[in-house]
Amino acid sequence: MNNRSEFERVVYDNKFRVLIAREQIDDRIRELGRKISDDYRGKNPIVIGVLNGGFLFMADLIRHIEIDLEIDFIKLSSYGDEKVSSGKVEVLKEINADVKNRHVLLVEDIVDTGLSVKVLEKKFSAFSPASLRFVSLLRKTDKAKVDFDIDYVGFEIPDHFVVGYGLDHKQILRNLPAVYIMD
Ligand code: 5GP
Repeated sequence: MNNRSEFERVVYDNKFRVLIAREQIDDRIRELGRKISDDYRGKNPIVIGVLNGGFLFMADLIRHIEIDLEIDFIKLSSYGDEKVSSGKVEVLKEINADVKNRHVLLVEDIVDTGLSVKVLEKKFSAFSPASLRFVSLLRKTDKAKVDFDIDYVGFEIPDHFVVGYGLDHKQILRNLPAVYIMD
C-alpha cells in the first residue's frame, strides 16, 4: 500500500474528491473558445500561457479558438511545496514576443488571492498592448484579496486546494485528467 504513487492513490483509491470531471472541463472550454473566437474576430490576438499550471488549459483552449492567433508563455513562481500563497510573485521566464499594440489574452489556471493576475496586469500594461484580457479556468470565489475582474472564467470554485489538469501539489499530479479537491 505504502509504495503506491500519489497518482495511484488519487485515481484508484478515491483519495481526493473529483471537483470538476473531464467532460465538464471539455464542455466549458468549448464554450469559452467560442466566446473568445467571437470577441477577437479579425484581431489576431497573442495568447500567453502562464506556466506551469496553465499549460494544459492553454493547449485545449486554443484548439477551440477558431481565428488566427499567436502564442507565447511566461513563467511565474508557484507556491513551491506550500498550499497557501507566500504573497510574493516572481517572474521566472519572460515572454519573447513584442506585445506593443497587440491584443493580449493571458491564460491562467486558477485565480486564488488575485495577486498573480494583478502583477501580470501591471507588467503587461507597461508594454502598451492594444488590449489586455485574462482567462482563467478556475477562480476561488470567496478568496480574492485583490479586487480584479477576470474577463473569462471557466468555473467558480469554493476555497479548497485543488490538483490535476495542470495544477500540482509539490510538482506532481498535474497529469490527472480532472480537477480534484485535496484537503
Ligand atoms: P494567486 O496569486 O491568485 O493567489 O494564485 C495564483 C497561482 O497560485 C495559480 O496560478 C496557481 O499556480 C497557484 N494556486 C492557487 N490556488 C491553487 C490551488 O488550489 N491548487 C494549486 N495546485 N495551485 C494553486
